[in-house]
Amino acid sequence: KAKQSGRNCFEFFNHNLREQAQARMDLLKNMRYGIEQKQFDLYYQAIVNLDSGHIHKAEALLRWRHPTRGVISPAEFIPLAEESRYINPLGQFVFTRALQTLTVLRAQVDANFQLSINVSPVQFSCLDSGIDQWPALLKAANLPPSAIVSEITEGLMIAPEQLTQQRLKALVKSGMELALDDFGTGYSSLAYLQQMDADYLKIDKCFVDNIQADNQDLALCKAIITMAHQFGLKVIAEGIETPEQQQLLLGIGCDYGQGYLFAKPLPEQEFLALVSNQSTTAT
Ligand code: C2E
Ligand code: MG
Ligand code: MG
Ligand code: MG
Repeated sequence: KAKQSGRNCFEFFNHNLREQAQARMDLLKNMRYGIEQKQFDLYYQAIVNLDSGHIHKAEALLRWRHPTRGVISPAEFIPLAEESRYINPLGQFVFTRALQTLTVLRAQVDANFQLSINVSPVQFSCLDSGIDQWPALLKAANLPPSAIVSEITEGLMIAPEQLTQQRLKALVKSGMELALDDFGTGYSSLAYLQQMDADYLKIDKCFVDNIQADNQDLALCKAIITMAHQFGLKVIAEGIETPEQQQLLLGIGCDYGQGYLFAKPLPEQEFLALVSNQSTTAT
């Protein structure tokens, strides 16, 4: 009897795996069509100056409005897009869409508004990803290179590929800014941090989650902030959900905060309403 139920378990497991694989295949097949059909959209999440409360930065986050499945999270489709290389056309969409929104933000909200975009390591290693044209596209849009921040992860800093390293250097040299995303979750290395000509360090949400007065995560955040400042980087804390977290981070010198406490990622029009409101109350 035990043997039989064991076998049932196995079959159930097997069936589940097959279903998962099928779901991935379906999503992949839909991706190209989805790009053509403009099912992808950029949302914007405020990055708040912790000292002044002002918002003149935001992170652009990709969303997929699937016709039958609803909004699909990037955590689900980005890995697939990377494997299939659809990340390249998607990355181009993200860049051009961000430039459009940035033009509006700079005209209507703040002349120095800055947008961050997430750039996949795959875009750096594929010759035809289009990232080499970014400085020219910025220029054509009448935007300074520093208007866009590329968020990369720590893994990219230690990627041995020459093409990746060259392109990273070229982006920095063009004047575009760089942020190290999810800091503390990868191969954090002080040596690389010093070598990199990055402008921002983003402390990962997992450190912010458990931050409390007098605990180790607070000490860790404080050490990261001190070190980052010494290397000339500004610090953005990710995933701030409570006023207590905000206060503690402000107290240890964190420059910027991002999180549901301030705003969730919003569609362009809602984000514009949020930040336009701010500029009228500020003046
Ligand atoms: P990320 O770059 O670290 O982005 C921050 C993620 O944290 C976003 O998830 C954001 O919605 C979420 N977040 C922000 N504040 C809070 C909070 O207070 N609480 C909680 N629970 N979550 C918060 P999202 O939008 O689902 O994106 C997940 C990841 O997918 C991103 O992590 C990024 O690595 C990737 N991604 C998103 N858009 C793109 C893109 O255009 N290109 C690439 N290559 N990757 C992207
Ligand atoms: Mg990011
Ligand atoms: Mg720089
Ligand atoms: Mg992050």
